[in-house]
Amino acid sequence: MSRDLEPKFDHLWKEYTGVFMEMDDLTLARWMAQTLGQFAGRVWRLSHPLLLTYELAARAAHDRQIWLKGMGIVPADYIPAECCRAPLFPVLSRDVAEVGLVCKHCGEACVHPEDLPVEMKSSLIQWAEKYEKVHAVAHWEEDGIKLPHDYDRQLESAAIKAEKYLLENGDKLALDLLGYYPAVAWEDQDECLAVRPEDLCVK
Ligand SMILES: [Zn+2]
Repeated sequence: MSRDLEPKFDHLWKEYTGVFMEMDDLTLARWMAQTLGQFAGRVWRLSHPLLLTYELAARAAHDRQIWLKGMGIVPADYIPAECCRAPLFPVLSRDVAEVGLVCKHCGEACVHPEDLPVEMKSSLIQWAEKYEKVHAVAHWEEDGIKLPHDYDRQLESAAIKAEKYLLENGDKLALDLLGYYPAVAWEDQDECLAVRPEDLCVK
């Protein structure tokens, strides 16, 4: 299981999902197919409300196995993902070197690192490696690294770098991935470095 990329509202999240749980399989499948049609041809921030809403539907569909049962509708341009047979809609996260691209539907890897597009593999891995160095600053203490006297300043400078790198992820790498997948979502925050989606502004 890869890292959970969605907000964890727990009981509240369950309550929100009710609207999709109440739909019958066909209505749910239609709603998802129509929304996937809207996702096609663009990159999406993970924090986009439409994506969060879609996540609720995806969970309901996954729980009810509508894709495995062949009840889902795969819109034009999409192909079924190997992980769960739902339409392939990958998420680019900071874990791309380690787990590959993550499935928007089941949260597992839908494109393993070895299957990343050949032309993009090295740029994606390089990005993840450079990001990992910056991200690691947030975990120095638990990793047993002695904190320098100016740790706060270093943490702040790591967060500023992370903002820049995450934007690069959305502006460049996710866009390039659109050449291979109908729609791509990208992680636009880093909870460990306290980088919020609103900190990333496309200038
Ligand atoms: Zn999946």
